[in-house]
Amino acid sequence: MNGPTTSRNDADSSAACPYCPVGTLKPGTTTEVYERGGVTLVVKDIPAEVCWACGEAVTTEETVGRLEEMIAETERGGMETVVRHFEPTTSASPAAA
Ligand SMILES: [Zn+2]
Repeated sequence: MNGPTTSRNDADSSAACPYCPVGTLKPGTTTEVYERGGVTLVVKDIPAEVCWACGEAVTTEETVGRLEEMIAETERGGMETVVRHFEPTTSASPAAA
């Protein structure tokens, strides 16, 4: 058997952590708390790359943009404290599963 024994390539799939010298980032989720204009928004299940060593989470610009939308929605909603799960933008494609 001369084929490759494995298709996994950990070196390519895990980026170095920007916060510590030893960790690498793995796909996961994080929870963030935002306080803005008198409202507190807790967002759970935010998709992020999480460092296994220091626990810091790195989110994409797209995710940050969606979080800004959720913060704005919360401010408009007029509630002081809101706990939400991260929701990808709903305009793209409705889940038809
Ligand atoms: Zn780290």
